[in-house]
Amino acid sequence: MNETARAAIVTGVAGDVEIRSYDLPRPGPGEFVLEVELCGMCGTDAHIYRGRLDSVRFPALLGHEIVGRLTALGEGVRADHAGRPVEVGDRVGVFPALSCGRCYECTVRRRPGSCPDRRPSYGFASPADRPPYLTGGFATHLYASNAGTVFYRTGLEPAVAVLQEPLSVALHGLERSRVGIGSTVVVQGVGAIGLMAVVAARAAGAARVVAVGGPPARLELAAALGADEVVDIDRVPDPARRAHAVRDALGESRGADAVIGTAGSPAAFTEAIGLVADGGTLAELGNFTDRGTVPFNPFSDLLKRDITIAGVYGAGPDMQRRYHSALTLLRRGGLPFDQVVSHRVPLSGARRALEALGGDYRLDDREIVKLAIDPHA
Ligand SMILES: [Zn+2]
Ligand SMILES: [Zn+2]
Repeated sequence: MNETARAAIVTGVAGDVEIRSYDLPRPGPGEFVLEVELCGMCGTDAHIYRGRLDSVRFPALLGHEIVGRLTALGEGVRADHAGRPVEVGDRVGVFPALSCGRCYECTVRRRPGSCPDRRPSYGFASPADRPPYLTGGFATHLYASNAGTVFYRTGLEPAVAVLQEPLSVALHGLERSRVGIGSTVVVQGVGAIGLMAVVAARAAGAARVVAVGGPPARLELAAALGADEVVDIDRVPDPARRAHAVRDALGESRGADAVIGTAGSPAAFTEAIGLVADGGTLAELGNFTDRGTVPFNPFSDLLKRDITIAGVYGAGPDMQRRYHSALTLLRRGGLPFDQVVSHRVPLSGARRALEALGGDYRLDDREIVKLAIDPHA
């Protein structure tokens, strides 16, 4: 067998990205191999590239938002996690996290992230210069070398299916925010997760959704995906005036029943608290890495206003269910999901893309909404 796979390997912190070749593995029992069609690149990848995630060592093979076609199935792999039969050639979305599914943390506490048998997720396994190799999505192939890897079959186009991960994170936020029929919602930040939060808020029955962020192209997409009104932060740079603009857009001087914070700075968190109506909820998704602290008054910011602040870490417990729900929502269609991926970048462009994500969010003279690596481009 002389078939080979190629992978974009980050050699060190903010270092070179080399394209390395590997023999295609033969999957053992319970394992499978996938030809990667598209792999989303997100802020987490850019943080790892900058050396901000201690658990990942270099050289590293990143990429955890993986969609592709099954090319080889190990013994016993006959169905996806929803019980639907699969065969070689089927397109699937891969659930990257690997917990045992049997222990106390996994089954009783339902905190798979705390599983003592948790192995590094696909796209986080390192170093990449020892077997099993091909454990991340920035490659032509993924070797799902952990028997029992969760995956879901899908007929969606890769550019839409790749939104499964950001949408599952947004769904976690929406569940924590208690948005329901008739709720007023502010989505702060219109990156991929903010855009997916707009979709999720609408699906949850929100009566009014206001998206706050920029630049204009992203706000237009937020409107197309279901936001009733948008507030451009560059046009209203002063936070106090912005709070007024958001309340006007909501048509509600009290603030929102729920704020979904995806902007990702400590200052944005403070601003988000101010946008919640008394008795409402802030679900904070944005400060996913340590960006610092903010002044916080437990009396006047929290108790007196009777608000709830929910920390939302990734797709959370029940991630497998949310991954599945995300595909279901995407399949429902009717929205311009195919416009969210703004850039498809070949493996050779991975470094440029990682730098753009950690920098000014522009690539090829265009604003980035969502980047994806297309390993066959
Ligand atoms: Zn991600
Ligand atoms: Zn476990």
